Amino acid sequence: MKISGILAQKNLTVSFEIFPPKAHLSMTPAIETARSLSRLNPDFISVTYGAGGSTRAHTAEVASRIEGMNIPALAHLTCVGASREEILSVIGDLKKAGVENVLALRGDLLPGQKTIPGFSHASDLAPLLRAEGFCVGGACYPEGHPESRNRDEDIENLRQKVDGGCDFLTTQMFFDNDMLYSFLYRMQSKGIRVPVLAGIMPVTSAAQCQRMIALSNAYMPRKLMMIIDRFQDSPEALAQAGIAYAIDQIIDLISNGVRGIHIYTMNKSSHAEMITAAISSIIEAANAKTGGPRGIYGC
Ligand code: FAD
Repeated sequence: MKISGILAQKNLTVSFEIFPPKAHLSMTPAIETARSLSRLNPDFISVTYGAGGSTRAHTAEVASRIEGMNIPALAHLTCVGASREEILSVIGDLKKAGVENVLALRGDLLPGQKTIPGFSHASDLAPLLRAEGFCVGGACYPEGHPESRNRDEDIENLRQKVDGGCDFLTTQMFFDNDMLYSFLYRMQSKGIRVPVLAGIMPVTSAAQCQRMIALSNAYMPRKLMMIIDRFQDSPEALAQAGIAYAIDQIIDLISNGVRGIHIYTMNKSSHAEMITAAISSIIEAANAKTGGPRGIYGC
Protein backbone atom coordinates (compact mmCIF):
# COMPACT_ATOMS: atom_id res chain seq x y z
CA MET A 1 0.00 0.00 0.00
CA LYS A 2 1.13 3.54 -0.68
CA ILE A 3 2.02 5.67 2.35
CA SER A 4 0.13 8.61 0.79
CA GLY A 5 -3.03 6.47 1.01
CA ILE A 6 -2.36 5.63 4.67
CA LEU A 7 -1.75 9.31 5.50
CA ALA A 8 -5.03 10.21 3.80
CA GLN A 9 -6.88 7.78 6.07
CA LYS A 10 -5.19 8.38 9.43
CA ASN A 11 -4.47 11.36 11.64
CA LEU A 12 -1.28 9.79 12.93
CA THR A 13 1.08 7.17 11.55
CA VAL A 14 3.70 5.26 13.52
CA SER A 15 6.60 3.77 11.59
CA PHE A 16 10.08 2.35 12.12
CA GLU A 17 13.42 2.56 10.36
CA ILE A 18 15.82 -0.36 10.09
CA PHE A 19 19.09 -0.84 8.26
CA PRO A 20 19.97 -3.88 6.12
CA PRO A 21 23.26 -5.76 6.52
CA LYS A 22 26.30 -4.88 4.44
CA ALA A 23 26.65 -6.90 1.23
CA HIS A 24 28.75 -9.80 2.64
CA LEU A 25 26.80 -10.28 5.90
CA SER A 26 23.83 -12.51 6.70
CA MET A 27 20.31 -11.16 6.17
CA THR A 28 18.86 -13.14 9.07
CA PRO A 29 19.22 -10.61 11.94
CA ALA A 30 17.65 -7.78 9.90
CA ILE A 31 14.75 -10.03 8.82
CA GLU A 32 14.21 -11.10 12.44
CA THR A 33 14.19 -7.43 13.52
CA ALA A 34 11.65 -6.64 10.80
CA ARG A 35 9.51 -9.60 11.92
CA SER A 36 9.51 -8.42 15.55
CA LEU A 37 8.67 -4.88 14.46
CA SER A 38 5.86 -6.12 12.19
CA ARG A 39 4.12 -7.56 15.29
CA LEU A 40 3.79 -3.98 16.59
CA ASN A 41 1.55 -3.19 13.58
CA PRO A 42 3.42 -0.15 12.28
CA ASP A 43 2.00 1.78 9.34
CA PHE A 44 5.23 1.07 7.47
CA ILE A 45 8.86 0.09 7.97
CA SER A 46 11.62 1.94 6.15
CA VAL A 47 14.88 0.32 5.04
CA THR A 48 17.99 2.44 4.63
CA TYR A 49 20.31 2.39 1.61
CA GLY A 50 24.02 2.14 2.37
CA ALA A 51 26.25 5.01 1.26
CA GLY A 52 27.10 4.69 -2.44
CA GLY A 53 24.70 1.76 -2.87
CA SER A 54 26.70 -0.53 -0.54
CA THR A 55 23.51 -2.30 0.61
CA ARG A 56 21.67 -2.03 -2.72
CA ALA A 57 20.54 -5.67 -3.10
CA HIS A 58 19.88 -6.07 0.62
CA THR A 59 17.71 -2.94 0.80
CA ALA A 60 15.42 -4.34 -1.90
CA GLU A 61 15.47 -7.83 -0.34
CA VAL A 62 14.64 -6.64 3.20
CA ALA A 63 11.92 -4.35 1.80
CA SER A 64 10.46 -7.28 -0.14
CA ARG A 65 10.41 -9.45 3.01
CA ILE A 66 8.62 -6.65 4.92
CA GLU A 67 5.97 -6.47 2.17
CA GLY A 68 5.60 -10.23 2.61
CA MET A 69 4.76 -9.60 6.28
CA ASN A 70 1.81 -7.44 5.09
CA ILE A 71 3.50 -4.24 6.23
CA PRO A 72 4.19 -1.53 3.63
CA ALA A 73 7.92 -0.99 3.08
CA LEU A 74 9.60 2.32 2.35
CA ALA A 75 12.89 1.70 0.52
CA HIS A 76 15.50 4.46 0.78
CA LEU A 77 17.42 5.28 -2.41
CA THR A 78 20.33 7.70 -2.82
CA CYS A 79 21.40 9.18 -6.14
CA VAL A 80 24.82 10.67 -5.35
CA GLY A 81 27.52 9.18 -7.58
CA ALA A 82 25.00 6.99 -9.45
CA SER A 83 24.29 7.10 -13.18
CA ARG A 84 20.76 7.20 -14.58
CA GLU A 85 21.18 3.57 -15.72
CA GLU A 86 22.16 2.47 -12.20
CA ILE A 87 19.20 4.28 -10.69
CA LEU A 88 16.82 2.76 -13.26
CA SER A 89 18.24 -0.65 -12.45
CA VAL A 90 17.57 -0.21 -8.69
CA ILE A 91 14.09 1.03 -9.53
CA GLY A 92 13.58 -2.21 -11.50
CA ASP A 93 14.74 -4.26 -8.47
CA LEU A 94 12.34 -2.39 -6.17
CA LYS A 95 9.42 -2.93 -8.52
CA LYS A 96 10.22 -6.65 -8.71
CA ALA A 97 10.33 -6.68 -4.90
CA GLY A 98 6.77 -5.28 -4.81
CA VAL A 99 7.87 -1.99 -3.19
CA GLU A 100 5.50 0.96 -3.75
CA ASN A 101 7.18 3.61 -1.57
CA VAL A 102 10.65 5.13 -1.97
CA LEU A 103 12.45 7.79 0.08
CA ALA A 104 14.27 9.96 -2.50
CA LEU A 105 17.68 10.98 -1.14
CA ARG A 106 20.80 12.56 -2.46
CA GLY A 107 23.10 10.81 0.03
CA ASP A 108 26.18 12.23 1.71
CA LEU A 109 29.02 13.49 -0.46
CA LEU A 110 32.38 11.89 0.29
CA PRO A 111 35.24 14.38 0.67
CA GLY A 112 36.06 15.55 -2.85
CA GLN A 113 33.14 13.64 -4.39
CA LYS A 114 31.29 15.32 -7.23
CA THR A 115 27.64 14.75 -8.03
CA ILE A 116 26.85 13.54 -11.53
CA PRO A 117 25.02 16.10 -13.68
CA GLY A 118 21.33 15.28 -13.65
CA PHE A 119 21.32 13.82 -10.13
CA SER A 120 22.88 16.57 -8.03
CA HIS A 121 20.07 16.68 -5.48
CA ALA A 122 17.18 14.63 -4.22
CA SER A 123 14.93 17.05 -6.13
CA ASP A 124 16.33 15.47 -9.33
CA LEU A 125 15.45 11.94 -8.16
CA ALA A 126 11.93 12.62 -6.83
CA PRO A 127 10.32 13.35 -10.26
CA LEU A 128 11.81 10.18 -11.77
CA LEU A 129 10.46 8.06 -8.91
CA ARG A 130 7.07 9.75 -9.20
CA ALA A 131 7.02 9.11 -12.97
CA GLU A 132 7.81 5.43 -12.25
CA GLY A 133 4.63 5.24 -10.15
CA PHE A 134 6.07 5.24 -6.61
CA CYS A 135 4.74 7.11 -3.62
CA VAL A 136 7.73 9.36 -2.90
CA GLY A 137 9.08 10.64 0.40
CA GLY A 138 11.88 13.14 1.00
CA ALA A 139 14.17 14.03 3.90
CA CYS A 140 13.96 17.34 5.77
CA TYR A 141 16.06 18.96 8.46
CA PRO A 142 14.36 20.91 11.29
CA GLU A 143 17.73 22.43 12.24
CA GLY A 144 18.78 22.99 8.61
CA HIS A 145 20.90 20.67 6.46
CA PRO A 146 24.58 20.98 7.48
CA GLU A 147 25.61 22.13 3.97
CA SER A 148 23.02 24.91 3.78
CA ARG A 149 24.17 28.49 4.11
CA ASN A 150 21.00 29.38 6.02
CA ARG A 151 17.59 27.96 6.88
CA ASP A 152 15.67 30.09 4.36
CA GLU A 153 17.77 28.71 1.52
CA ASP A 154 17.27 25.19 2.87
CA ILE A 155 13.47 25.67 2.95
CA GLU A 156 13.50 27.04 -0.60
CA ASN A 157 15.43 23.94 -1.75
CA LEU A 158 12.95 21.79 0.15
CA ARG A 159 10.08 23.46 -1.69
CA GLN A 160 11.68 22.48 -5.02
CA LYS A 161 12.02 18.89 -3.80
CA VAL A 162 8.36 18.73 -2.72
CA ASP A 163 7.22 20.37 -5.97
CA GLY A 164 9.28 17.71 -7.77
CA GLY A 165 6.95 15.03 -6.44
CA CYS A 166 7.32 14.27 -2.70
CA ASP A 167 4.12 13.04 -1.08
CA PHE A 168 5.51 13.38 2.44
CA LEU A 169 8.68 14.26 4.34
CA THR A 170 10.55 12.52 7.14
CA THR A 171 12.70 14.61 9.45
CA GLN A 172 16.24 14.17 10.56
CA MET A 173 16.38 13.25 14.25
CA PHE A 174 15.94 16.11 16.70
CA PHE A 175 15.84 16.18 20.49
CA ASP A 176 14.10 19.49 21.08
CA ASN A 177 10.51 19.61 19.80
CA ASP A 178 10.56 23.40 19.52
CA MET A 179 13.07 22.96 16.68
CA LEU A 180 10.43 20.98 14.78
CA TYR A 181 7.57 23.38 15.56
CA SER A 182 9.57 26.37 14.38
CA PHE A 183 10.59 24.46 11.21
CA LEU A 184 6.96 23.46 10.48
CA TYR A 185 5.84 27.04 10.91
CA ARG A 186 8.52 28.32 8.48
CA MET A 187 7.83 25.49 6.05
CA GLN A 188 4.08 26.05 6.00
CA SER A 189 4.49 29.80 5.67
CA LYS A 190 6.42 29.10 2.43
CA GLY A 191 3.48 27.06 1.15
CA ILE A 192 4.94 23.57 1.70
CA ARG A 193 1.98 21.56 2.88
CA VAL A 194 2.82 17.86 2.68
CA PRO A 195 2.64 15.68 5.84
CA VAL A 196 5.84 15.68 7.91
CA LEU A 197 6.78 12.57 9.89
CA ALA A 198 8.87 13.34 12.96
CA GLY A 199 12.05 11.26 13.18
CA ILE A 200 12.71 10.18 16.77
CA MET A 201 15.92 8.53 17.89
CA PRO A 202 15.80 6.96 21.35
CA VAL A 203 19.23 7.63 22.87
CA THR A 204 20.23 4.32 24.39
CA SER A 205 24.02 4.38 24.18
CA ALA A 206 26.48 7.21 24.76
CA ALA A 207 28.74 6.16 21.86
CA GLN A 208 25.81 5.87 19.44
CA CYS A 209 24.57 9.27 20.55
CA GLN A 210 27.94 10.95 19.93
CA ARG A 211 28.10 9.38 16.44
CA MET A 212 24.59 10.47 15.56
CA ILE A 213 25.05 14.00 16.79
CA ALA A 214 28.30 14.36 14.85
CA LEU A 215 26.44 13.22 11.71
CA SER A 216 23.29 15.28 12.16
CA ASN A 217 24.48 18.35 14.11
CA ALA A 218 21.34 17.98 16.25
CA TYR A 219 20.99 20.32 19.22
CA MET A 220 21.23 18.44 22.51
CA PRO A 221 19.00 19.90 25.24
CA ARG A 222 20.47 20.13 28.74
CA LYS A 223 17.93 17.61 30.07
CA LEU A 224 19.17 14.91 27.66
CA MET A 225 22.80 15.84 28.19
CA MET A 226 22.36 15.32 31.94
CA ILE A 227 20.80 11.90 31.33
CA ILE A 228 23.78 10.83 29.20
CA ASP A 229 26.32 12.24 31.68
CA ARG A 230 24.64 10.56 34.63
CA PHE A 231 24.05 7.11 33.10
CA GLN A 232 26.73 6.65 30.43
CA ASP A 233 28.49 3.95 32.48
CA SER A 234 25.32 2.02 33.10
CA PRO A 235 23.92 0.87 29.73
CA GLU A 236 20.62 -0.48 31.04
CA ALA A 237 19.88 2.69 33.01
CA LEU A 238 20.82 4.86 30.00
CA ALA A 239 18.54 2.82 27.73
CA GLN A 240 15.65 3.18 30.20
CA ALA A 241 16.16 6.93 30.62
CA GLY A 242 16.72 7.47 26.87
CA ILE A 243 13.51 5.64 26.02
CA ALA A 244 11.58 7.63 28.65
CA TYR A 245 12.95 10.84 27.05
CA ALA A 246 11.81 9.67 23.59
CA ILE A 247 8.34 8.80 24.93
CA ASP A 248 8.04 12.25 26.50
CA GLN A 249 9.05 13.85 23.18
CA ILE A 250 6.53 11.72 21.25
CA ILE A 251 3.61 12.52 23.58
CA ASP A 252 4.27 16.23 23.15
CA LEU A 253 4.48 15.83 19.35
CA ILE A 254 1.21 13.90 19.16
CA SER A 255 -0.49 16.44 21.45
CA ASN A 256 0.58 19.15 19.02
CA GLY A 257 -0.92 17.31 16.05
CA VAL A 258 2.10 16.01 14.12
CA ARG A 259 1.11 13.59 11.35
CA GLY A 260 3.59 10.83 12.02
CA ILE A 261 6.18 9.43 14.40
CA HIS A 262 9.05 7.64 12.68
CA ILE A 263 11.30 5.81 15.11
CA TYR A 264 14.96 5.25 14.25
CA THR A 265 15.17 1.82 15.85
CA MET A 266 18.87 1.11 15.14
CA ASN A 267 17.55 -2.47 14.68
CA LYS A 268 16.67 -2.73 18.38
CA SER A 269 13.10 -3.99 18.22
CA SER A 270 12.86 -4.24 22.04
CA HIS A 271 13.23 -0.44 22.31
CA ALA A 272 10.47 0.07 19.73
CA GLU A 273 8.30 -2.36 21.71
CA MET A 274 8.81 -0.38 24.93
CA ILE A 275 7.89 2.88 23.21
CA THR A 276 4.78 1.60 21.44
CA ALA A 277 3.55 -0.15 24.61
CA ALA A 278 3.83 3.15 26.51
CA ILE A 279 1.82 5.13 23.93
CA SER A 280 -0.70 2.57 22.64
CA SER A 281 -3.80 4.37 24.02
CA ILE A 282 -2.41 7.71 22.88
CA ILE A 283 -2.03 6.45 19.29
CA GLU A 284 -5.54 4.98 19.42
CA ALA A 285 -7.04 8.24 20.70
CA ALA A 286 -5.19 10.29 18.07
CA ASN A 287 -6.69 8.12 15.34
CA ALA A 288 -10.15 7.73 16.90
CA LYS A 289 -11.66 10.69 15.09
CA THR A 290 -10.86 11.24 11.44
CA GLY A 291 -12.15 13.81 9.00
CA GLY A 292 -11.95 16.76 11.42
CA PRO A 293 -9.27 19.42 11.75
CA ARG A 294 -5.87 17.86 12.36
CA GLY A 295 -4.26 20.56 14.52
CA ILE A 296 -1.87 23.32 13.55
CA TYR A 297 0.85 20.97 12.37
CA GLY A 298 -1.48 18.53 10.70
CA CYS A 299 -1.29 19.04 6.96
P1 FAD B 1 19.04 17.17 -0.80
O1 FAD B 1 17.59 17.34 -0.63
O2 FAD B 1 19.56 17.07 -2.18
O3 FAD B 1 19.76 18.36 -0.01
C1 FAD B 1 21.17 18.35 0.22
C2 FAD B 1 21.70 19.78 0.32
O4 FAD B 1 21.58 20.42 -0.96
C3 FAD B 1 20.91 20.67 1.28
O5 FAD B 1 21.82 21.56 1.88
C4 FAD B 1 19.93 21.41 0.39
O6 FAD B 1 19.53 22.65 0.94
C5 FAD B 1 20.74 21.57 -0.88
N1 FAD B 1 19.90 21.56 -2.09
C6 FAD B 1 18.82 20.75 -2.33
N2 FAD B 1 18.32 20.99 -3.54
C7 FAD B 1 19.10 21.95 -4.09
C8 FAD B 1 19.10 22.63 -5.34
N3 FAD B 1 18.18 22.34 -6.28
N4 FAD B 1 20.05 23.57 -5.57
C9 FAD B 1 20.99 23.89 -4.64
N5 FAD B 1 21.04 23.28 -3.42
C10 FAD B 1 20.10 22.33 -3.16
N6 FAD B 1 21.74 8.63 3.70
C11 FAD B 1 22.08 7.43 3.11
O7 FAD B 1 23.18 7.28 2.55
N7 FAD B 1 21.19 6.37 3.15
C12 FAD B 1 19.96 6.46 3.72
O8 FAD B 1 19.20 5.50 3.74
C13 FAD B 1 19.59 7.70 4.33
N8 FAD B 1 18.38 7.87 4.91
C14 FAD B 1 18.01 9.09 5.43
C15 FAD B 1 16.72 9.25 5.96
C16 FAD B 1 16.33 10.48 6.49
C17 FAD B 1 14.93 10.66 7.03
C18 FAD B 1 17.25 11.58 6.52
C19 FAD B 1 16.85 12.89 7.13
C20 FAD B 1 18.54 11.42 6.00
C21 FAD B 1 18.92 10.18 5.43
N9 FAD B 1 20.19 10.00 4.87
C22 FAD B 1 20.54 8.78 4.30
C23 FAD B 1 21.19 11.08 4.91
C24 FAD B 1 21.13 11.98 3.63
O9 FAD B 1 21.53 11.23 2.52
C25 FAD B 1 22.06 13.17 3.87
O10 FAD B 1 21.55 14.00 4.88
C26 FAD B 1 22.43 13.97 2.62
O11 FAD B 1 23.52 14.85 2.96
C27 FAD B 1 21.33 14.85 2.07
O12 FAD B 1 20.35 14.11 1.46
P2 FAD B 1 18.97 14.84 0.98
O13 FAD B 1 18.21 13.84 0.23
O14 FAD B 1 18.34 15.52 2.11
O15 FAD B 1 19.61 15.90 -0.04
